[in-house]
Amino acid sequence: MSFRIYNTLTRSVQEFTSLEPGHVRMYTCGPTVYNIAHIGNFRAYVFEDLLRRWLQFKGWRVTQVMNLTDVDDKTIHGSREAGVSLADFTAPFKKAFFEDLRALNIEPAEYYPAATDHIPEMIELISRLMEGGHAYQSEDGSVYFSIDSWPSYGKLARLDRAGMRSGVRIHSDEYDKENVADFALWKAWDEKDGDVAWDSPWGRGRPGWHIECSAMSQKYLGASFDIHTGGVDNIFPHHEDEIAQSEAANGQPLAAFWIHCAHLMVDGQKMSKSRGNFYTLRDVLAKGYTGREVRYELIATHYRAALNFTMASLDAARVSLRRIDEFTERCKAAAGDVAAGDLPVWAQQAAQRFEAAMDDDLNVSAALATLFDTIREGNSALDAKKLTDAEAAALLALFRKWDTALGVLEKPAATVPPEIQALLEQRQAARAAKDWAQSDALRAAMAAQGWLVKDTPKGQVVSPA
Ligand code: AMP
Ligand code: ZN
Repeated sequence: MSFRIYNTLTRSVQEFTSLEPGHVRMYTCGPTVYNIAHIGNFRAYVFEDLLRRWLQFKGWRVTQVMNLTDVDDKTIHGSREAGVSLADFTAPFKKAFFEDLRALNIEPAEYYPAATDHIPEMIELISRLMEGGHAYQSEDGSVYFSIDSWPSYGKLARLDRAGMRSGVRIHSDEYDKENVADFALWKAWDEKDGDVAWDSPWGRGRPGWHIECSAMSQKYLGASFDIHTGGVDNIFPHHEDEIAQSEAANGQPLAAFWIHCAHLMVDGQKMSKSRGNFYTLRDVLAKGYTGREVRYELIATHYRAALNFTMASLDAARVSLRRIDEFTERCKAAAGDVAAGDLPVWAQQAAQRFEAAMDDDLNVSAALATLFDTIREGNSALDAKKLTDAEAAALLALFRKWDTALGVLEKPAATVPPEIQALLEQRQAARAAKDWAQSDALRAAMAAQGWLVKDTPKGQVVSPA
């Protein structure tokens, strides 16, 4: 079955093929590390993870690059306000980002290049644009890309060339479609930059945001690769500008597929730092939700549909996950140590429907509907004692296979905190000494802290209440 996905470049769903057989090279615009990423940002990273996992499910090897933007207008501004060096300012946000990736069960990319480690590559790329007549230095020392020099400028965002103000310059990294103009590749130092500056053929300064991704994608993936992703807000100007820089310098298409996810919304507006309507993953975890529940909520809506974030939708995710867990527990109990046999016919059909749904532009809603149909059928078969142990084991294997793509079905083992671990050991000793009163008191002490202890033939088993 072939995988079809929506390409923003052609505005159509296309069959995916990789440039190199069996190997997909994919670039994802990563976080700007000037704050803790919000869950809107994580909608993009979770969608990219689903895409990566689906490519792997289909048999491709994936090389994914996710950059860290650790020098730009926002990081410099933040470090100046905090009165610390740029590196000291961004370091804790980088660390927090990787913690959040783990909490959301996002598979690590192969490379996480940081912009500040790739200034020479950026300078080299800008030099080539200068030589090719695609860039010029202005009176203030900054270097700009000349959109007039590149006739296909605007092809991704479908800009109207008539409205472009070529020769007019825009200095900031972010701007809207009303201000299409020559954009900055290299920004000459000014006092707002403090001590953030590198030497270049055009004097001291620092790179613009867009050139960072062009330089880093080329270094790790080559001049032409398969997939470039981000949220829809990246289409213009960021991805448009990346295409212009890279294609003008290299004379070949930057990426074959441009894939963008819709926004995570709050009350009809994009969740964003500047609107102040954002939650970080930490905010949501502090309310008692888990990373798994957040991941479920973020993947359960098709990536191209706007998703409204509410606590009620997290509660719904919790209910769905509970149904999944109850079913897999039932199958585990039925399967015991029995080896997996053939799937019942209805589950074989479900496996095909699941794959067909995901192959259809990652139609995860249809894939999850199939998963819940499977649970319903499976539960009735278990109720009617019509499921053999080997079939129960095969269903578990099917869920494990689906989970290589979804990353949300397997219940992560709860980590038992050290203080509960200590109580368990004391209780073990009390029971060995047949001190039942002490054993019950310790059980009550753990229950008071939210942990339930069961005594099984294999010993004590503890789980969160
Ligand atoms: P930034 O750190 O602003 O460059 O954003 C990092 C990534 O998050 C980019 O791919 C953005 O497109 C994406 N993003 C930002 N806000 C949202 C949102 N509310 N919903 C989905 N993706 C978003
Ligand atoms: Zn980027």
